[in-house]
Amino acid sequence: MNLLEVKNLNTSFHIGVGTVQAVRGISFHVEQGESLGIVGESGSGKSVSMLSVMGLLPNYADIVADSIRFDGRELTKLSGKALRAMHGSEIGMIFQDPMTSLNPLFTVESQLTEPLRIHRHMDKRQARQRALELLRQVDIPNPEARLKQYPHELSGGLRQRVMIAIAIACGPKMIIADEPTTALDVTIQAQILELLQHLKQETQTSIIMITHDLGVIASMCSRILVMYGGTICEQGNARDIFYDPRHPYTWGLLNSIPKVQDAPAGKLIPIKGTPPDMLKPPAGCPFSPRCRYCMPVCRAYMPPTTELSDVHRVACHLMHPHAPKITREV
Ligand code: SF4
Repeated sequence: MNLLEVKNLNTSFHIGVGTVQAVRGISFHVEQGESLGIVGESGSGKSVSMLSVMGLLPNYADIVADSIRFDGRELTKLSGKALRAMHGSEIGMIFQDPMTSLNPLFTVESQLTEPLRIHRHMDKRQARQRALELLRQVDIPNPEARLKQYPHELSGGLRQRVMIAIAIACGPKMIIADEPTTALDVTIQAQILELLQHLKQETQTSIIMITHDLGVIASMCSRILVMYGGTICEQGNARDIFYDPRHPYTWGLLNSIPKVQDAPAGKLIPIKGTPPDMLKPPAGCPFSPRCRYCMPVCRAYMPPTTELSDVHRVACHLMHPHAPKITREV
């Protein structure tokens, strides 16, 4: 059953020099208890699309969608107040840098008990008790002492665990984790991913993992959306994306991952060029200026989405039956 269903989402920002078309007509869904990965470079629209779903963008953002349904409710029809009430209670968010998302002026206890008091109407003693349970649940040692500390007194890994505890405090149905491990070193990164995986299995919470790192996606997600230039260029289950990718941008992402067998002499193959200027995105395929297989039709027309299976979909003119047969170069 679908917990979240988004249809034809478009988000743009009106700024002094024009309109940035950050998200352009994306549709996707998240099933109950599923881990969905959204991968792409900076500026691909992955974070903006989720902030649009949550209604967390500034006033100068224009969010238009045919439908955004969450747990049977149409979010596009909810008031700002009703939407805000869902944050923290039904949808939890984990951000990249807990140092900037946690308030440096408040203790862990006050930040952890606040959502419990607001959304679950707990009194001070009940909220403190639940906060201690949550810190234990995210494997924070000596939770009584940690409750009294301020964010700057904790290590990066502990701060991220506190963020996770806040995100799961009210038992949300879905967690959006936006680059949750980017600011951490690799050992702590692995621990945080393991913790998220464990919490998901324990609580059956759906997770949307936003990242530029396909390695993170591989260990966590059963289904993956690849975003480029504000569009979804390929989507499929983990097997489709890692073993049968069809879009040249997905090939580029996979080729830029270091391979153990190539070390130490193997070189990473970068994707040449830079992401498109979303003030003036290309008229056709957004990847056309960087794609080595670009054809004249690619510059003129946005590629349609071809369904290769129930879950594997690709937006590329190479999928046309009369297009040249190109296979991935590894
Ligand atoms: Fe490359 Fe054309 Fe496919 Fe875009 S549509 S990825 S430019 S081949």
